[in-house]
Amino acid sequence: MNFQKPKGTMDILPGESKLWQYVENTAEEVFSTYRFEEIRTPIFEQYEVFQRSSGETSDIVSKEMYDFEDKGNRRMALRPEGTAGVVRAYVENKLFAPEHVKPVKVWYKGPMFRYERPQSGRQRQFHQIGVEAFGSTSPDIDADTIAMAINFLSKFNINEYKLAINTLGDSESREKYHNALINYLTPFKEELSDDSKRRLEQNPLRILDSKDKKDQEIVANAPSILDFLTEESQLHFDRVKSLLEVLNIDYIVDSNMVRGLDYYNHTIFEVMVTDKAFDNKETTVIAGGRYNGLVEELGGPETPGFGFGMGIERLMLLIDDDTKAKMNSESLDVFITTLDENSATQALVLLDQFRKEGLKADRDFLDRKVKGQFKMANNLHSKFVITLGEEELTNKKAPLKNMETGEQVEVEFDHLANKVKELMGDN
Ligand code: ATP
Ligand code: MG
Repeated sequence: MNFQKPKGTMDILPGESKLWQYVENTAEEVFSTYRFEEIRTPIFEQYEVFQRSSGETSDIVSKEMYDFEDKGNRRMALRPEGTAGVVRAYVENKLFAPEHVKPVKVWYKGPMFRYERPQSGRQRQFHQIGVEAFGSTSPDIDADTIAMAINFLSKFNINEYKLAINTLGDSESREKYHNALINYLTPFKEELSDDSKRRLEQNPLRILDSKDKKDQEIVANAPSILDFLTEESQLHFDRVKSLLEVLNIDYIVDSNMVRGLDYYNHTIFEVMVTDKAFDNKETTVIAGGRYNGLVEELGGPETPGFGFGMGIERLMLLIDDDTKAKMNSESLDVFITTLDENSATQALVLLDQFRKEGLKADRDFLDRKVKGQFKMANNLHSKFVITLGEEELTNKKAPLKNMETGEQVEVEFDHLANKVKELMGDN
């Protein structure tokens, strides 16, 4: 019997996990400078949490969700995205209460699940890092959070990107636009894809997001949301644009961008990158926007929100080889070679001390001959090697060899850990 991982999933192996940790740690570092704190929510939720937030007609809910009935006949779903669960947690744990300083800013990381056709940068289990800021209607938080996304990418030397922004306006702008869109699209109804025919009844805005070629041709001449904005929506959008300019962040306005989820209003944005890793196709790495009705939709008080999510696998594909190699090269501080059983015992005692001092240290556990042990030390890129035999045990002293310089010093057992640390500090 040969077992294989489920289609569309990946194993993150030793050697690769360093890079993942680096990405996650960088998120923590960058986001905390903006006062975002990590939140961890369950990987599965009640089906309705996602249905309510993403919308019944969204691709995520209608086609891509891993939903199932549990043994207690509850309808559950693996999370397809992070925002819904975070909003559910925000409401359930009353993070809107006065003791939480607003805006309440949280970030998350972890696996998401979508039943999709797997291809490069598109999996069934993938990982996202995302952020949410609750409690401010100010366009300034939109710009500040978009800037954070850009700053995060710059930590990975990703400086060539296209930032597309759009506004979906408030509900009044949206309603006027909705009607204009139906008036425009109805004469084309027969030419639209089957999905879009359905969308025309249920959610015409979604047709703007269609991946169908013919749909896209029709949509190219559709009215623009920008002509239907209320004064307030216009002011919000103008302020976001002017702040991005103040922050020296280049952007383009794409009035056909709607995003795949129902919950957005006002500012939405995507950061796209064209790279050989994506077959030179323009690919979205970070996407997000404002969602002023979502907290209420999930049973909380009226609370504005702004957030984004990014695909970690897609980000990984953009990290240059040098950084990857640096991240994945693991080295050992000290290796102890042993000549017999007694020195092997002593080695364990010393290793125990080294590790308590925070040194990465190891020895052979496969009864290798001395030559084999040195080979192992080399393969592990050990910085120092200590050799133990009968004589060393008697004198309670051992030779400590710097593998880079070849220099060797005799050090008493009790001082070995400190000596290694001292010499490492010298490097
Ligand atoms: P797409 O149009 O590519 O399907 P989306 O609109 O469904 O993207 P979002 O729901 O906005 O994507 O998710 C945010 C980010 O998560 C995406 O920009 C992408 O980087 C990543 N992402 C989404 N789906 C997948 C997937 N199946 N595999 C890997 N990454 C994904
Ligand atoms: Mg998708």
